[in-house]
Amino acid sequence: MPNFACPVCRGSLTQGAQTWECAGCGATFPVVRGVPVLLNEQNSVFRIADYTGGGAYEGASGYAGSADNSGGWRRAYRRFARALSEAPVPGVGFDPLEIILAEKPDAEILVVGSGERERKGNVTYTDVAFAKHIACICDGHDLPFADASFDAVFAEAVLEHVCDPQRVVSEITRVLKPDGLVYAVTPFLQPVHMGAYDFTRFTYLGHRRLFRQFDDLRSGMMGGPGYSAIHLGRNLLTELSDHHRVRSMLRMLGLLMTYPLRYLDPLLSRTQGSYNSACACYFLGRKRETPIPDRELIALFRGR
Ligand SMILES: [Zn+2]
Repeated sequence: MPNFACPVCRGSLTQGAQTWECAGCGATFPVVRGVPVLLNEQNSVFRIADYTGGGAYEGASGYAGSADNSGGWRRAYRRFARALSEAPVPGVGFDPLEIILAEKPDAEILVVGSGERERKGNVTYTDVAFAKHIACICDGHDLPFADASFDAVFAEAVLEHVCDPQRVVSEITRVLKPDGLVYAVTPFLQPVHMGAYDFTRFTYLGHRRLFRQFDDLRSGMMGGPGYSAIHLGRNLLTELSDHHRVRSMLRMLGLLMTYPLRYLDPLLSRTQGSYNSACACYFLGRKRETPIPDRELIALFRGR
């Protein structure tokens, strides 16, 4: 794993007894549950005290607290609902990790917003929650690594959750080596999730513009209009009520009614216009020296 750098001034950090200290600006960062908390509080919605105080932010689904302790029919019902809601989105037809490792088997890989998902290879996991495997708590607006530290960076379902996506992409670009690769998946018509920690959506071209300092290796839709309709159809029913029990029943009805829509996606995804109502977009790109001018980006539009 590359050495940590100060998230405030990018100075080098040295490890103390229960802290990391910056030689440049004098900032100190605590180690909590064995994990350094490397936040620049000036640019983050999180504070270091959020992690030292015991009631830390627990991530998307409350990583540690998401265990289902219910029993009997309730457990079976929840499992059924989860199976319906998590039925796999059709893949993008390639594995970005395989492409990265084929190019460089010992590639230094950074995952921003890693959650609990484990990957093979030489991976540095980071998140704003105490997820398993993480090397540090950090915020994508200020990655605590020196310039040109990584061969590849993953940011899947992350950029909708940050206040300033362009700044996060700039940070990803900074910590990537020249010719480094980025892989991002970001929603377009998927509804709001994770409560207040959800800020932005991107069209295909808006997403492409975020990565204008990258050449496009592969990009497209992840989940077409069928998946967008599934999400919106479920919400349409669930939001008919604010009552917990009624919502729960409406949610199940929505899961069942919208389930077949996913079978439309293979048909829909063949049409150019389907980009207009994509559920999410993905982008795999290689860092380039200069950003693509906006006028040239317009020519990269996909849709109708
Ligand atoms: Zn510093």
